[in-house]
Amino acid sequence: MASFTLHGIPVSRGISIGRAHLLTPAALDVKHYLVPEEQLEAEVRRLQDAIAEVHRGLQLLWTELPKDAPTELGAFIDVHALILSDPMISEAAIDIIRSRHYNAEWALVTQIDELSAQFDEIEDEYLRERKADIQQVAERVLKVLMGSAQLVVPRLPNDEYQPQMIVVAHDISPADMLQFRDRSFIGFVTDVGGQNSHTAIVARSLDIPAAVGMSQASQLIEQDDWVIIDGDAGVVIANPSPLVLEQYRARQLVLQKTRKKLLKLKKTPAVTLDGTAITLLANIELPDDCGAALDAGANGVGLFRSEFLFMGRGGHAHMVPSEEEQFEQYKKAVLAMKGRPVVIRTLDIGADKPLDQTEHTALNPALGLRAIRYCLAEPQLFLTQLRAILRASAFGKVRLLIPMLAHAFEIDQTLAMIEQAKTQLRDAGHKFDEGVEVGAMIEIPAAALALPMFVRRMDFLSIGTNDLIQYTLAIDRVDYEVAHLYNPLHPAILQLIAMTIAAGHKAGIDVAVCGEMAGDVKLTRLLLGMGLREFSMHPAQLLAVKQEILRCDLPTLTRQTAKILRTMEPQAIADAVAQMQTM
Ligand code: PEP
Ligand code: MG
Repeated sequence: MASFTLHGIPVSRGISIGRAHLLTPAALDVKHYLVPEEQLEAEVRRLQDAIAEVHRGLQLLWTELPKDAPTELGAFIDVHALILSDPMISEAAIDIIRSRHYNAEWALVTQIDELSAQFDEIEDEYLRERKADIQQVAERVLKVLMGSAQLVVPRLPNDEYQPQMIVVAHDISPADMLQFRDRSFIGFVTDVGGQNSHTAIVARSLDIPAAVGMSQASQLIEQDDWVIIDGDAGVVIANPSPLVLEQYRARQLVLQKTRKKLLKLKKTPAVTLDGTAITLLANIELPDDCGAALDAGANGVGLFRSEFLFMGRGGHAHMVPSEEEQFEQYKKAVLAMKGRPVVIRTLDIGADKPLDQTEHTALNPALGLRAIRYCLAEPQLFLTQLRAILRASAFGKVRLLIPMLAHAFEIDQTLAMIEQAKTQLRDAGHKFDEGVEVGAMIEIPAAALALPMFVRRMDFLSIGTNDLIQYTLAIDRVDYEVAHLYNPLHPAILQLIAMTIAAGHKAGIDVAVCGEMAGDVKLTRLLLGMGLREFSMHPAQLLAVKQEILRCDLPTLTRQTAKILRTMEPQAIADAVAQMQTM
């Protein structure tokens, strides 16, 4: 097998070496997990039972056919029943469960994908069209299986069956990425995607090497190919030579050692050389991430992306979590953080995080009904969330963060709805923190240019650099074709961030950065120099940023940064920022 290298966009650091596991869009729609040895036969039975149920359903259809039904209808049912009995479907899928330990849905989809590929090569048109029948039969079985699926995906009991797989797919949605938690995948490669797409963000939070924007990867890489991901460079090497493999294994070891060393800083306070304390917070997607946040020594949670509680629930807008369910999740995070503050961001749905996977009506979703706009348009959904978050504030320090604000009336309406939620809770006799603070994400340029409007109304600010960059530079964060235009050091971006930090401090309110810039060690000094004292990032980035902070002298950085902010020449800025790292 010839070795080849692909170049794309690095999104999650580190090196992974494993076997390619190709995921087709169909395969992504089903859950996939590995079944432990002792549960294999039960899984086989689950598939057999589902097939039997579909059989019964087809027979029922037959008997209920009206007398005057067209004969094709009966023939159609016969064909489906025949397909269902074919060992190419059932036996082959059972083999996959037993040999590869795939769960039933995954095994079935894998087999159907293989069959479909064979069908594509058939010359006879009539036969080729039978592919659709096979897919329909598989869908019937999948429907039954999903009804019997376990809600909790079991963790693997030991490493014995961990095959060290690297997922290769055309695209992975953030909700799909979320289901890779606790599974045995060690890397992700996708054809599309941008540096700060939410899929990339979840990969970073899983702390698994990933590269996106690889254009043809899912066509060029074959199932079970050996693959190396260099997540720092955005490079993927398929079928590497033994020499290359050895080099990467050596680099992997060095990286592991560096990470281990960083762990020693867990309890060290993040204080600069001149004695200024810096707050380091964690970004989380689900309450379970609090463990990683504490392991990294975070001072709290600076961004709980609550929309992830709403995603991956079958993709239907009506399947949103209830107040009670949300409350339990927020409370779980608050209790896990043991008195440390937890900033819960209200639902930021829309754009690349659709609530309903089928909902793609907006031509320009990033500029559409997203985040707070969506919530204000769905007041019952928003009030439910606000009540759930407020109730969690009775169990620890909670702050509310509102995404994507641009207008004063949006802030006023939001604050009024928070008051309404509080009244409802008082009436129902629920406890909550009456003084819960409310902050605004500054992530639309209009917000950064109208800060007095915000500081007058809000208790704190948090800069969402991912969207601030997307909207200021007019680049879709999920579009790899414009990913090269993504530049956090663009003078316009630096001005907007510096203005926000300065305005917040002048008004005496906290300002944090919770976008991806906060976790980039190459930017730590610059942000400190701008006056930033609160950084929120993925737990996996926190100790490296702390290490950088421990080496910094603020007066020097402040002088250097002031000079950078007077520069409008990108190259001069890039050089000066690089120069800062060496001091
Ligand atoms: C941001 O925009 O920088 C941010 C933190 O929010 P998200 O990435 O979830 O849009
Ligand atoms: Mg954002």
